[in-house]
Amino acid sequence: MAIRKIVRFPQNFLRQPTKAVDVVDAAVRRLVDDMCETMFAAEGAGLAAIQVGASERIFIIDPQVAGRQKNDPALVLINPVIEHLTPETHVKDEGCLSFPGIFVPVKRSIGVRVRAMDLDGKSFVVEASDTTEGLFARALQHEHDHLINKLLIDQVGPVKRQMIKRKLERMTDEEAERLIMEHGD
Ligand code: ZN
Repeated sequence: MAIRKIVRFPQNFLRQPTKAVDVVDAAVRRLVDDMCETMFAAEGAGLAAIQVGASERIFIIDPQVAGRQKNDPALVLINPVIEHLTPETHVKDEGCLSFPGIFVPVKRSIGVRVRAMDLDGKSFVVEASDTTEGLFARALQHEHDHLINKLLIDQVGPVKRQMIKRKLERMTDEEAERLIMEHGD
C-alpha cells in the first residue's frame, strides 16, 4: 500500500472523464488499497479514484461515516449508480480533499440509495439517510459527483469561484497538507 498524492483543484485531471471497471483485478485492488491509505492519512470522509490520479469509477467512504466501526475497512463502491435521491434536502458546509481549507454550503438530498459493485465483483445496494449529525448520504453524493466531474467549486457563484481558484492556484503542497491535517474532509 502507498499514500498517493491528492490531485488538487485547479488541476485538469479532476475534469477528466471516468471509466467503468470491467473486472476487479489485482491492479484495481491495489488502487483501492492506496486510496484507503491516502484517505486515512488525510482523515477524509471519502475519496474518489480521480482524486489520486486514476480514472476508474471508484470511490470509498470512511468506515465511521458509513456507520461502521473505526477499525473496520472503508466502504468501497465500484461503478456506483445513484438509484434514488429523496426530494427532502438540507444545506450544510462541505469540504473536499481536493480543495484544502475550503468549505462551501451545498444542498444535498437527505436520503440516497446507491447500487455498486464490491471488491468481489458482486452487486450491492447501500442506503443512507442523514440526521443532523450524520453525513453518510452527503458523502455518497459528494463522491459520486467526482465521478461525473462535478466539483465543490461548481456549487458557488462566479465571484466566490474566482476567489477559491486564486487561493488554490497559489497554494503550496506544504500549505495544502497543513490545511488537510487541520480540517480533514
Ligand atoms: Zn471531494
